[in-house]
Amino acid sequence: MTGSVVVVGSANVDVVVDVPRHPQGGETILGGNLRRTPGGKGANQAVAAARAGGADVSFVGALGRDDDAQLLLDSLTGAGVRTDLVRASDAATGTALISVTGEGENTIIVAPGANSAVAVDDEVTGRIRQADVVLAQLEIPLDVVLAAARARSSARFVLNAAPSRALPEELLAAVDVLIVNEHEARDLAGTDGDPESLAATLLEKVATVVVTLGAAGALIAERDAEPVHVPAPTVTAVDTTGAGDAFCGVFAAALANGTSTHDAARVACVAGALAATRPGAQAAMPAVEDVSAAAR
Ligand code: ATP
Repeated sequence: MTGSVVVVGSANVDVVVDVPRHPQGGETILGGNLRRTPGGKGANQAVAAARAGGADVSFVGALGRDDDAQLLLDSLTGAGVRTDLVRASDAATGTALISVTGEGENTIIVAPGANSAVAVDDEVTGRIRQADVVLAQLEIPLDVVLAAARARSSARFVLNAAPSRALPEELLAAVDVLIVNEHEARDLAGTDGDPESLAATLLEKVATVVVTLGAAGALIAERDAEPVHVPAPTVTAVDTTGAGDAFCGVFAAALANGTSTHDAARVACVAGALAATRPGAQAAMPAVEDVSAAAR
């Protein structure tokens, strides 16, 4: 049986320019190629859950009334994501201005635009009530994330706490599975330490904590159990943009399809590694067959 996932989150067009180095304040430099590609953590994770995770996925988001909206809708529908709950806003489609050097060092400025208009209305609530998993991130207003968590009935609520923000206790209390990278884990735990000790601190608030560790895979920590380290396959990474989103989308899809937390993390690690071998965000999400083949 195919499980259902509702992803509530951001959609951005990534406007990427190659630069020899980053400019200083007041300086103008000449860049190289300019690319406009579909991105935003919410849309990336929805695409990953549908394409690499094989779940029935609905995306709850908001887009402007502009050409960038079409770029995002095409990417979402191309991956098989339901877009009937995507709302149109008078603000411009969210935009991330990204400059990247030859060494792969990024600077990113996000103009949220239409993402501020994401809302949990009656129709969205209806879809969330039928879902197996609700997946959210922190690129949209926190009250919308909280409303999504409150709207569910039997669905598990998976929060990818990215980018780092202080979270209200009420929101953390609603989380079933928290997914963070090491940097976000430190911010949320409010302390330094190795992934095991950060996860132990976060377990005081959330029942299951997943810390992603880049090429080293992920750590799964659950209350009253020893933490388990899940390795990632060794790959030649060309662009890790979207690796975290591939992990979250595929993890949520696997949970929705009835997979255990540990097995979901295993398949998510494979998807994250494959995404790191391809450039871009949504364009880098592997197909479900690629993930199964690499997981064998
Ligand atoms: P992003 O670069 O997308 O912001 P992130 O910091 O949110 O990523 P990471 O921990 O870097 O998340 O990566 C998520 C998952 O992707 C990892 O758990 C791992 O499975 C996989 N992954 C990322 N980078 C690599 C790599 N170089 N080699 C193999 N697997 C990788």
